Amino acid sequence: MGRIVVISTGGTIASRWQGSGFAADADGNEVMATAPLPEDVTVEVVDLFSVNSPRLTTAHQLTLLRTVHEVLADPGVDGIVVTHGTDTLEESAFLVDLHHHDERSVVFTGAQLPMGAEDGDGPANLYDALLVALRTRGLGVLVSFAGQVHAARGTIKTQTLAADAFADPSGEWLGKIGFGKVTVLRQPRRPQPLAVPAMPEALPRVDMVMHHADADALLFRAAVDAGARGVVLVATGAGNATPEFVEAVAEATARGVLVALTTRVPAGPVTEIYTHGGAVDLVAAGAVPTGTLRAGQARIAVLAALLASGERAEQERVLRLALSAGAAATKPLVDA
Ligand code: ASP
Repeated sequence: MGRIVVISTGGTIASRWQGSGFAADADGNEVMATAPLPEDVTVEVVDLFSVNSPRLTTAHQLTLLRTVHEVLADPGVDGIVVTHGTDTLEESAFLVDLHHHDERSVVFTGAQLPMGAEDGDGPANLYDALLVALRTRGLGVLVSFAGQVHAARGTIKTQTLAADAFADPSGEWLGKIGFGKVTVLRQPRRPQPLAVPAMPEALPRVDMVMHHADADALLFRAAVDAGARGVVLVATGAGNATPEFVEAVAEATARGVLVALTTRVPAGPVTEIYTHGGAVDLVAAGAVPTGTLRAGQARIAVLAALLASGERAEQERVLRLALSAGAAATKPLVDA
């Protein structure tokens, strides 16, 4: 028998009708009771919180990270499943992945349809996630959803409502689940894991600002003025904005703010091609390009860098390390 710990955090998989809409209110044991158990699995539930994931804070995410490490301190545990809202699942999963240095899998899952829905996807997703947690090793943090297994890194929510809610738009699936079997198709690339940070007294503010036609840099500067220690610039195309943004980025980086450069395009890497406000100039102004990582995970990489050190140079080294495997994620090490 394998022993899997399920950490319950809320989301649609724990959501019920509240009179005007759905919201998370079920605890972990109620969520677990909806799912069939694989016959060779015993489950223990950690009831961490029950919130919908757009409401999660950095404090929630760090609590989850620390809980994962506390659970894995028990060598008798074979793996972890985290039930989570789908909206910010990619952020929490990536944070845990960046700090994961254990052979055992941590598998995130959730649902697109609420608890108790007759055609709900939660029970099957949970069943599959338990199988993945039990049967896989050495793959880092995973997302198991709709019969697909994804590496946390690079995987984002790509569907607002459809059951197959997750994908890496720049990469491929890691594996699949069917007929009680987990098939691993490739090995993810992951950088050296980071040490789990202490819970700081004041959590750093990290903002995102999106570029668009007619945008000026007012909101970018407002973020810095509000005390942001990091800003993710969600640029257009392969990472382009305007000369005004270049100036604002240079001012921010001169003040010690970490700036990461991603794009609002769904797939492909940020690349230095254009000048006159393009990625060539933004990078020269100190922005760090994020490869194929999109905004939510770029923000988590910045957050992890800020939590890792108080020193600007070290923060930038950690940020580059956290981003480093992103560009290579499309190149599988192993094909089976
Ligand atoms: N739609 C979301 C979910 O699937 C709501 C949330 O993220 O909590 O769980």
